[in-house]
Amino acid sequence: MVSGVGPAPTLRQHNIPIIADRSGVGQNMQDHIYFGPSYRVNAPTFSAFSNPTFAAQAAQDFNENASGLYTNPTTDVLAWEKVPDSFRSAFSPQTLAALATFPPDWPELEYLSLGAYLGYQQNLATGDPNDGYNYASLAASIVAPLSRGNLTVASADTATPPLINPNWLTHPADLAVAVAGFKRIRKFWDTDSMRRFRVGEEESFPGLAIQTDAQIEEIVKRSSNTIYHAACTCKMGRANDTMAVVDVGGRVFGTRGLRVVDASVFPLLPPGHPQATVYGFLFFSFLSCLSFPPPWGVSGAGFDMWKAEWLTFWTDALAEKIACDVSGSC
Ligand SMILES: Cc1cc2nc3c(=O)[nH]c(=O)nc-3n(C[C@H](O)[C@H](O)[C@H](O)COP(=O)(O)OP(=O)(O)OC[C@H]3O[C@@H](n4cnc5c(N)ncnc54)[C@H](O)[C@@H]3O)c2cc1C
Repeated sequence: MVSGVGPAPTLRQHNIPIIADRSGVGQNMQDHIYFGPSYRVNAPTFSAFSNPTFAAQAAQDFNENASGLYTNPTTDVLAWEKVPDSFRSAFSPQTLAALATFPPDWPELEYLSLGAYLGYQQNLATGDPNDGYNYASLAASIVAPLSRGNLTVASADTATPPLINPNWLTHPADLAVAVAGFKRIRKFWDTDSMRRFRVGEEESFPGLAIQTDAQIEEIVKRSSNTIYHAACTCKMGRANDTMAVVDVGGRVFGTRGLRVVDASVFPLLPPGHPQATVYGFLFFSFLSCLSFPPPWGVSGAGFDMWKAEWLTFWTDALAEKIACDVSGSC
């Protein structure tokens, strides 16, 4: 917006010269939030770091052998699913209709295993009860979110933080999915496999006194946090969509020679973690930057084959680059 591309009234308000009046800039914000119950368990988790002897040994294991609990990213296992029928049957017709706007194979819940206490997520470093027990959590994340946030500028100076309004859980369907996910997680902890891992009958957070949908909704609202997937505030769309900011190649409507190539152009936040999609779009946008001059004498199907070869070449090159980045060998 401070560059002059955004809703004209906002730009005028901050005396920003208007380059393109695009009212969609800053709208359509989507994110994945997560929340979930925590239990006492009979294996060392991040809770054990509050024991100075354990923490010192873990630091030594990490520094000397690249092993131990410090090598753990907290979340080892992720899983996705549509809300199963046993919970889905409680959904209102409005919730079902809203969820039906996603493609049929689009998951609605992601589960994240956490070797740590989650609780209200006010402070992950100090939130653990620190009472000598180890805690673990299974979190749910809403990955077909229907709530939409927005952001705008507070001044024409990029040093001034923007005003961000995430609007999480404002769509009733998101709350319904959240409650279903929360109940599903409790069922998971109640299985024979997980009972062997649990210490005692209690649920440490929020506690089994929280039972009704209204109570669970309240806990979800108070304990949710972002997974940092905020996106979609410059959405891609057709030229006749007044809220679209860029076209399919990331070209900004109303400008020349300007593209946006990042997660803000997603029209819809993918249900997984977005980094790979950002790379994918980067690659696609790069290809669409090339003018693709057909080699001499090549046209029609021949041109398509030539393009496909280019695509394969760049896909391989990109895959190689990512692999060497990940392995640290480049
Ligand atoms: C803590 C955390 C954990 C995450 N974990 C995962 C994960 O495990 N898997 C996954 O898929 N995704 C993960 N994500 C999400 C993922 O990182 C983002 O979705 C992705 O990086 C978005 O890519 P982007 O290109 O849109 O933005 P970014 O990666 O944020 O890139 C924006 C870039 O623009 C630069 N910039 C900003 N302002 C200016 C300016 N004025 N001038 C010039 N440059 C500027 C920034 O420095 C930055 O380099 C995580 C995010 C966070 C915060």
